[in-house]
Amino acid sequence: MPPDENPTLIREDRYDAQRIETKWFARWQQDASLYAAEPNSTKPKYYVLEMLPYPSGVLHMGHVRNYAIGDALARYMWMNGYNVLHPMGWDSFGLPAENAAIANHTPPREWTLRNIANMKAQMKRLGFAYDWSREVTTCLPEYYRWNQWFFLKLYEKGLAYRKKSRVNWCPKCATVLANEQVVNGCCWRHEDTLVEQRELEQWFLRITQYAEELLRDLDKLADWPEKVRTMQRNWIGRSEGTLVDFKLDGVPDSTITVFTTRVDTIYGATSIQLAPQHPLAARLAKNNDLLRGQIEQLIAEQRKAREVGDIGAIEKHGVNTHHFAVNPYNGERVPVWVANYILMDYGTGAIMSVPAHDERDHEFASKYNLPIPIVIVPRTADPEETSVEPLLPFTTFDGTLVNSGAFNGLDCEEAIQQMTAHAEQNGFGKATVTFRLKDWGISRQRYWGTPIPMLYCEKDGIVPVPEKNLPVILPENVDITLTGGSPLGRVPEFVNTTCPKCGGPARRETDTMDTFVDSSWYFYRYTDAHNDREPFDPKTAGYWFPIDQYIGGVEHAILHLIYSRFWTKFMRDMGWVKNDEPVERLFTQGMIIKGGAKMSKSVGNIVSPDEMIARYGADSTRMYTLFATAPDRELDWQDEGVEGIQRFLSRVYRLVARTAPLETQLAASLPAQPEKLQAQPEARHIQRKLHQTIKRVSDDFQGRWHFNTSIAAIMELVNELYAAEERVARAPSPAGVAQSALWPEVQRNLTLLLAPFAPHLAHELWEMLGEKESLLRAPWPKYDPALAKEDEIEIPVQINGKLRCLIVVPVDSSKEVIQEHALADQKIKAAISGKQLVKVIVVPGKLINLVVR
Ligand SMILES: [Zn+2]
Ligand SMILES: [Zn+2]
Repeated sequence: MPPDENPTLIREDRYDAQRIETKWFARWQQDASLYAAEPNSTKPKYYVLEMLPYPSGVLHMGHVRNYAIGDALARYMWMNGYNVLHPMGWDSFGLPAENAAIANHTPPREWTLRNIANMKAQMKRLGFAYDWSREVTTCLPEYYRWNQWFFLKLYEKGLAYRKKSRVNWCPKCATVLANEQVVNGCCWRHEDTLVEQRELEQWFLRITQYAEELLRDLDKLADWPEKVRTMQRNWIGRSEGTLVDFKLDGVPDSTITVFTTRVDTIYGATSIQLAPQHPLAARLAKNNDLLRGQIEQLIAEQRKAREVGDIGAIEKHGVNTHHFAVNPYNGERVPVWVANYILMDYGTGAIMSVPAHDERDHEFASKYNLPIPIVIVPRTADPEETSVEPLLPFTTFDGTLVNSGAFNGLDCEEAIQQMTAHAEQNGFGKATVTFRLKDWGISRQRYWGTPIPMLYCEKDGIVPVPEKNLPVILPENVDITLTGGSPLGRVPEFVNTTCPKCGGPARRETDTMDTFVDSSWYFYRYTDAHNDREPFDPKTAGYWFPIDQYIGGVEHAILHLIYSRFWTKFMRDMGWVKNDEPVERLFTQGMIIKGGAKMSKSVGNIVSPDEMIARYGADSTRMYTLFATAPDRELDWQDEGVEGIQRFLSRVYRLVARTAPLETQLAASLPAQPEKLQAQPEARHIQRKLHQTIKRVSDDFQGRWHFNTSIAAIMELVNELYAAEERVARAPSPAGVAQSALWPEVQRNLTLLLAPFAPHLAHELWEMLGEKESLLRAPWPKYDPALAKEDEIEIPVQINGKLRCLIVVPVDSSKEVIQEHALADQKIKAAISGKQLVKVIVVPGKLINLVVR
């Protein structure tokens, strides 16, 4: 063998991360199919996915953590014999590209594709095992044409529609925002910018049609974090109630429809409260400058409360319009107020105020000294005795109606039924279910997005672009400004076209789609990424879906993760997929902070992955993000921690590299049976530790994903190996571990255990050990429970229930043996001498308690 082909001769005794990682990087680049899923595989499938990034230009540490988790899992599943799908792509439409275009005069496409190239190179340098042949880039026509195709299908089914509506408008983005993108009254991108309300013609997707199912199916998602399910439940915000029409006294054609969940309390209503943005409020203030000014003040107060982020804590405040509404149940006139705590986007924007039986109304009425009539009293055992005065506000359903005309004496639940039926019979109300979830407004007055494939013809009105004319290509060389509506409106070649119905002139829609459309179904495209006849082959997607494990930030709990559930349900109803839900298991990793703050440019505490890789290597960097804390917890970044991992990997390297060439001759010399090793206590000790470590790491992958404890277990094993070596060095004996038959097994398994966490080093060691099979698909080590079992265990000894000491006994000791050991212990002997042993309680394997007097 020529010297340069002998791995033992090029071995260095120092762990050189850069050398090893550059070598494996080059190797892995040569094999494009290395991480490819197998076609027509008989293995069980496993689809592991990390959320695709926005191509901002550089990876940040949060990305590295996210991908290190997914990558460890993918490698573990490969080693466990699964057919693994592990792809990556780019959520590459969106506003930053336009901002960059304005700032640097770079076309968004160029800027975006350059960023993708940078980040992809970083991912490769980090050694993430992605199947790049399935890469999805949402800003390319080969992808976004299917957004347009789906849009046409939604339109056909009546699930996409256009209406004039009050929309959230961010003046900085100069575009419409979905409700989900309004955070505390501000833009989700511009936390300091208040969102304005504007009237615009917009395209909507009818997600509310799926509200019930989106809510109900949350119960199926048992392997989603509870906090995400709760956030979605709250976001969907289902409540059952009654709509009741109040007429405005003396104002013709005026109806105020209130939404209430407690129609049983309506006889106790003392006022109607309108949201300041309610259309009737504006109407009543039309010729009343004072009132108009006051209402504007209320709007400002509400906006301010949203800004602070807690509308519920607003100092409740209102103005009397001096108009009256008529309670349709009893004909009573109640004053109409406008109040700052009533929200236009909940229910109908109008409520009835029942101060005796509602917390907020009580607070409000107390402030303005309004009457507080009681209409519900606590239920009593004796039906004759109903006059118990409730403590106000009395808000439970556990009561009986009083002062409520024909409904007196009914229990609350029953009253709600009967009174709702009464309203329906008399035509002034009905039962209803309201949702906080609103239809999804997808129109954006932006350039860098998917063109909405619709036309406007003077003769035919709204005309969809025929499927055969897709894609509607986003034109290039467009002058982008952030004002004056969609930039596409200023491109005549784009706007002016021919109506496919009448052949006459038509205008194209110039709005583009919300980028959350792109991410609503991208993960299906990975299963069939180059299909140019359909978005993906339903059969292929059927094999891979649902996603077995999805990993990403909790900030996507409502937007992306609700939209993509909706999209899946729509595709199921159009017969394109069979699964009801896209994601079986969801994991949300914790944030990375440094010095107590979220990493950000403005704080100046960003840690660059490139810098960490240059200093410590990719393996140390990735492994540190898994080791520093449990993956769902917030990680407080410490550079020294990465250095610590690098030192650990050096120790592993030295341990394996030093003795690797000895492996073959020793393996032949000694058999590895455990019974033989019993005669070698040192080796048996290591063998037990090894099998315990395999068990701990395997259990963590199967269970709670505490990779930090997995890695700590591997570190303990390595420490034991060094300690054993030192003992042997001091007193050489044939029982030394490194000289034992066990050693090849230790080296091999240690390398396998490291493979998901430090793949470059693991591959290097694997090769040194002379292994020919690819480490990626080498079988994950199995532990033997018999070998993992301790020979001896520690048992706590208590005297009168108080811990006194620990004794060491053989595993599986009987009660008698444990008692014998305990009573023979010097400490215990001293403690009980002169006392009477009354009772001995032994729980084998757990503890012994001596009761003395
Ligand atoms: Zn904004
Ligand atoms: Zn036409």
